[in-house]
Amino acid sequence: MTVSSRTQVGIVGAGPAGLLLSHLLALRGIDSVVIENRSRAYCEARQRAGLLEAGTVELLRAVGLGARMDAEGLEHGGIYLQFEGERHHLDFRDLTGGRWVTIYAQTEIVKDLIRARLAAGAAIEFEVSDTEVGELDSDRPVLRFTDSAGARHEVTCDAIAGCDGFHGICRDSMPPGLIEVAERGYPYSWLGILATVAPSTDELIYSRHVDGFALHTMRTPQVSRLYLQVPADEDIERWPDDRIWAELRHRLGVPGWDLKEGPITEKAISPMRSFVASPMRHRRLFLAGDAAHIVPPTGAKGLNLAIADVTVLAAALTSLLREGQAAQADAYSDACLSRVWRATHFSWWMTSMLHVDPHADRFEAALQLSQLRYVVSSRAAATTLAENYTGYFPLTWASLPESTRGRGITRGPDGAAGAGPGRAARTAPRPLRSRSGIAAR
Ligand SMILES: Cc1cc2nc3c(=O)[nH]c(=O)nc-3n(C[C@H](O)[C@H](O)[C@H](O)COP(=O)(O)OP(=O)(O)OC[C@H]3O[C@@H](n4cnc5c(N)ncnc54)[C@H](O)[C@@H]3O)c2cc1C
Repeated sequence: MTVSSRTQVGIVGAGPAGLLLSHLLALRGIDSVVIENRSRAYCEARQRAGLLEAGTVELLRAVGLGARMDAEGLEHGGIYLQFEGERHHLDFRDLTGGRWVTIYAQTEIVKDLIRARLAAGAAIEFEVSDTEVGELDSDRPVLRFTDSAGARHEVTCDAIAGCDGFHGICRDSMPPGLIEVAERGYPYSWLGILATVAPSTDELIYSRHVDGFALHTMRTPQVSRLYLQVPADEDIERWPDDRIWAELRHRLGVPGWDLKEGPITEKAISPMRSFVASPMRHRRLFLAGDAAHIVPPTGAKGLNLAIADVTVLAAALTSLLREGQAAQADAYSDACLSRVWRATHFSWWMTSMLHVDPHADRFEAALQLSQLRYVVSSRAAATTLAENYTGYFPLTWASLPESTRGRGITRGPDGAAGAGPGRAARTAPRPLRSRSGIAAR
């Protein structure tokens, strides 16, 4: 027997994109159902991103999700770039007029979101299976799944959001031939570890070493996160803990600095890929986050892009479902892709500049080093890195006018109260065009 039900927005995936979309829609009085094929415990423990752009932080604060992040997050005003045995500091606040980034793990954002959604009485179905989306050529798309007790469900929706990550089913459910993919593989992977030891640095260290890239980041004042470039098809079994620490010391070391070691609680190898699918929408099926695009983690953009997508999508769906206005929904894909391509370029640039390509010749290696020297010696070049790293496009969450508010609406990140439909319609920011054609804030 199939259980039939109805909601306004069916959301596939309880990662950061799906959960935040559900939260933002609720703030505007729109109902949603979130389905997730993993358990709550798995979603809350999955180690991934940890670095938030300033705009992401401001957005989370503006929508009532900032309390624990503000108490536990670590604000960083720059990074270190290391190459040829020397470590250089880039001061983001100085370069960008005060912008910064925050270390706050994706696991914690997911915990905060799940707690907030469940406290608000939201429907999140964990451990579902056989997810399908259908009736996609109609205004009433249907979400089908089997719940953890084995009951089959069919949920009729006004719209469906595919927030189901890179390996989800929504992107492949788009009509054949609609989606165009642009992608790039990289001939290396990242071996990442989580270690119970205080970080050996106050800010992230990105190190380009002749034997491969290394990154020292962190999760909390007690937990370090470190990465090593390894061959694309590397076997984790070849990396016992002692070898990992020795290689990290080798690639991150500079005179007078020591790397503190501690128990490794997790280690995994992740492939590196750039992937952009467009358009991100077919009628009332919308893709958001990793379902539509992924970037190599060097630029720390994936989570930030997922949050940006659903901020735009929540406004578009509000306009579509409450006011019957399709303009923002029609503009959704283009609005997101302009940010996505900026982040894709930045992530590719950081990756190419810092990793040792096993196929590169001396010419390419010399270009890499020349670029790195330029970044640490030219204010213009350093500003380009800092501006992209801290978040090039502003992210805004506009409040609704008093008369049309749903539950729990907060003020926008700029502190302004809702000022009519025109303000809500500006939620998908467009960069200004300078006379030279270069986007400017
Ligand atoms: C090692 C690593 C390091 C990273 N570091 C950073 C960083 O420093 N900064 C940064 O910004 N980004 C980083 N990222 C990227 C970031 O983690 C992702 O971009 C982010 O998780 C995207 O969120 P999402 O909600 O779109 O997708 P996901 O987090 O992948 O969530 C998708 C959800 O959908 C569920 N799902 C899939 N299929 C189905 C189905 N058929 N039915 C129901 N549910 C389904 C999945 O189980 C999952 O819970 C990193 C990623 C990795 C792998």
